Amino acid sequence: MFRETIHHSSGGSVGTASEQHATMLLTTARRRGYDVEFTPAGGALITWTRHLFGPGEGSVVRAERSIELEPVTPVGALSATTRLDLHLIAGDRHARYVEKDGRRVISGLLWEIPAFTTARLGARGLVVEDGDQLRLSLTARLALLAQQHRTRTTPPQGWYRPPASDPYGSAGLNRPGGRAGMLRDGGSAATCSCGALSGWGGDRDEARRLTRDHRRAVAAAFVSEHLVYVPPSVAARCDCGSCAECVTG
Ligand SMILES: [Zn+2]
Repeated sequence: MFRETIHHSSGGSVGTASEQHATMLLTTARRRGYDVEFTPAGGALITWTRHLFGPGEGSVVRAERSIELEPVTPVGALSATTRLDLHLIAGDRHARYVEKDGRRVISGLLWEIPAFTTARLGARGLVVEDGDQLRLSLTARLALLAQQHRTRTTPPQGWYRPPASDPYGSAGLNRPGGRAGMLRDGGSAATCSCGALSGWGGDRDEARRLTRDHRRAVAAAFVSEHLVYVPPSVAARCDCGSCAECVTG
C-alpha cells in the first residue's frame, strides 16, 4: 500500500494507492514518456509537464505535475542477507509459505527461509502472496532497484594551486583576492554503484543531472521490462476455457 500525493497547479491531494493502482500509474507514466524515479524506501516519483493555454491569446503555460508514491511501510535498510533472501524468492516460482513444526516458513524448490526471518519479511511488507505463490512486493522491488543504483557526485575541487611542474601553472597570475597563480576546477564526477555511469559534469548541477538521468533511464527500463498492469476485471476472469463465463465471455 502506498500514500499517493498528487501535485498540480492549484495544490495537492493525498490518498492511498494499492500495489495494483501504483503499477497502473507507473506503466501509464512510462507509456506516455513521463519521468519516473524510485526511492530507497521503496517508493516512486512520477513527473511530467503539461502545456496549458495561458490568459493571453496564443500563450502557453508550462505546468509541472507530479505523483509521489510513498510506501505506507518504508522498506528501510536492506542488509546483504535480506537482499539474498529477496533474490531467492524473486527467482523461484515455487516460493510459497509452508508450515514447519507449527511455524510458517518461506520455502522454494531447494531452499527454505527460517521462521523468524520469514515473519520479518512479511511484517516489513517485502513479500506478498499471489494465489498460493509468494512474490516480492512492488516496494521491495523498487527498494532493491534503488539499492543497486546508488548515485553520487563528487564535490568540485574549487580553487587550487597547480604544481610547479604543471605547464599551466602560471595561469591567472594577476588574480585578485590572494588567488594569483591559482586555478579553479568546478568539475564534478557522476557515478553509480552499478558501474554503468561514469560521467563528468562541468559543475555539480550538471553532474547531478547526469545521475538523475541515469536513475530515470534505469526506472524506465524496469517499468517496461518487469511491470505488467492487469486490470481487475481481467485478473478476476476465469480462463479454464470450458465454464459458462469462458465460453460466453
Ligand atoms: Zn546505476
